[in-house]
Amino acid sequence: MLADSPQPFTFGGLRPRVVFGWGTLDRVSDELNRLGRRRALILTGPRQRTEAEQLAARLGAAAVGVLAEAAMHTPLEVTEHALVKFRDAEADSVISLGGGSTTGLGKAIALRSGADQLVIPTTYAGSEMTDILGETAGGAKTTRRDPAILPETVVYDVSLTVGLPVKTTTTSGLNALAHAAEALYAKDGSPVISLLAAEAIEALVAALPVIVRRPRDGPARTKALYGAWLCGAALGGASMALHHKLCHVLGGSFNTPHADTHAIMLPHTIGFNAAAAGRALAPLSAALNGKPGPALFDFAAKLGAPQRLQDLGLSIADLDLVADIATRQPYPNPRPIERESIRELLQDAWEGCRPQA
Ligand code: NAD
Repeated sequence: MLADSPQPFTFGGLRPRVVFGWGTLDRVSDELNRLGRRRALILTGPRQRTEAEQLAARLGAAAVGVLAEAAMHTPLEVTEHALVKFRDAEADSVISLGGGSTTGLGKAIALRSGADQLVIPTTYAGSEMTDILGETAGGAKTTRRDPAILPETVVYDVSLTVGLPVKTTTTSGLNALAHAAEALYAKDGSPVISLLAAEAIEALVAALPVIVRRPRDGPARTKALYGAWLCGAALGGASMALHHKLCHVLGGSFNTPHADTHAIMLPHTIGFNAAAAGRALAPLSAALNGKPGPALFDFAAKLGAPQRLQDLGLSIADLDLVADIATRQPYPNPRPIERESIRELLQDAWEGCRPQA
């Protein structure tokens, strides 16, 4: 047998259906018809209400309302209120127009009502491609996977991302990169998922610096959204590890902004795993031209992304609690997880030190 031939693997295929391009909002009506749905509730966050109302106007009778209440980390009370609206409107589907927070609300409704979901992502979070739902209740975030959570259709319209602020672009782009990086060393990864992840990393590493210089650059925006799609697909096709666990604890228990948290933690978590997963991480090292941790740190600095946990309002004492919670029920990880080494990692991320590995 050749040394580099594949290990045994399971590959679940690629879903959901994807429509990608510029001006694809024109296709939403047809895609809804294709699903056999006639009454969609349009979801978004408070800052994107106007875009959602414009979409409702385009859809006419197929849109039975707009709910602009999505919030970060999918709080249970928002979902419960949205479910009442969904039932009162006699909706049969949701259209989630927005970032990961909006997609999360759509997933939470679909899980409880059986509604079909058509997602129109406007950030690079990647949630639209996964069967994962993280929800917060009582100050804690719980994450589950269920086929009922996976959206039916995703419509990527690059034109909706052209105005995404540069800061959100870079943090959200690093959030996407985190999905691809962890998919490379996932315990249940596959050669196909690794190919997607490698292509995604290349696309984002090429596109994000261009967007920082020229935020409305069409080809760069196209490439970034393409990369984000593949990152989401990689996350959807493999399990998460230490990086996502720490971000879930930080976001769920300390309400830190999701994308900023990913951006800050990524060089440290990937650096932590680099020695144990160096071979798997080779596409990342190649794209960034350096050792994973420091190269990611330098890349994030070049993009002007946040780099210190302390800037998200966390105290030193909070780090102890994060380390406790994150090591109580860790996700499978290439390098063994011990409380002491995780506490050190958190200290480095809090101070914003450049990782060595
Ligand atoms: P977000 O959805 O909260 O959006 C951040 C802000 O940017 C919001 O105010 C939003 O209105 C605004 N915005 C979004 N798109 C815009 C655009 N094109 N132009 C201008 N403003 C825009 O943030 P996010 O980082 O996309 O998503 C974070 C959430 O997604 C978290 O709750 C996280 O848990 C979840 N998430 C889930 C998964 C999963 O697979 N389950 C994956 C990634 C993220």
